[in-house]
Amino acid sequence: MDKNDFKVTIKALESNNFEAKLAENRDEALKLILDLVPRDAVVGIGDSATIRQISILEELLKKENSIINPFTNEYMIDKPQLRGDIQRKALMSDVFITGSNAITFDGKIVNIDMVGNRVVGMIFGPKRVIIIVGRNKIVKNVDEALLRIKNIIAPYHAFRKKFKTPCATTGKCSNCDSPQRICNVTVILDKKPRRIDSTVVIINEDLGLSWDETWPIERIERIKTNYDEVTWIFKE
Ligand code: SF4
Repeated sequence: MDKNDFKVTIKALESNNFEAKLAENRDEALKLILDLVPRDAVVGIGDSATIRQISILEELLKKENSIINPFTNEYMIDKPQLRGDIQRKALMSDVFITGSNAITFDGKIVNIDMVGNRVVGMIFGPKRVIIIVGRNKIVKNVDEALLRIKNIIAPYHAFRKKFKTPCATTGKCSNCDSPQRICNVTVILDKKPRRIDSTVVIINEDLGLSWDETWPIERIERIKTNYDEVTWIFKE
């Protein structure tokens, strides 16, 4: 990605009524995001490796914001039966913070979810959503986004989290009927949904899970390793 690609993407997001900001690195992103969250705001969280990688929750806690995070060990491991209720509660927060699978050059936001809480939080419920993405999430168009999600992001996600899906073994999507299928909801935000303030923060670093197969293998391996360090493992 060069500066021009960032400019094109930011401009396209703005034309689609999203607020869009570019941060040169995670420190700059933290500052931008903290400025967007009022001191007394309740902050809900959608699952995102990028959020964990930039340590935004730790910074919000220092600001004494209340955080509703369904993806803590408490709700992922100890009390998974409560996770759904906490996910619902997070959708009524003042500010919802999440990642995204892909952002296109023409300013669309593309996601495929298993549960859908993350995409609902981008559409309606919270007063504001902040969507944080690394540069590696930017793709040419919706077709490329969907192809990449189905054949790179979802298979690696399923493999790493030990979901029993065909793609976890083959690395490619076979449009499965697995009970643990992670692709149940496909949402493309063409324009900003009307009743939510929405800011996309693009960080000029590789963050979260996404790559193009033509990239150098060292870069891809680094993305995987960094993701592995922060992600959770699914337990039945
Ligand atoms: S539909 Fe099934 S096989 Fe395809 S990516 Fe999703 S979980 Fe994997």
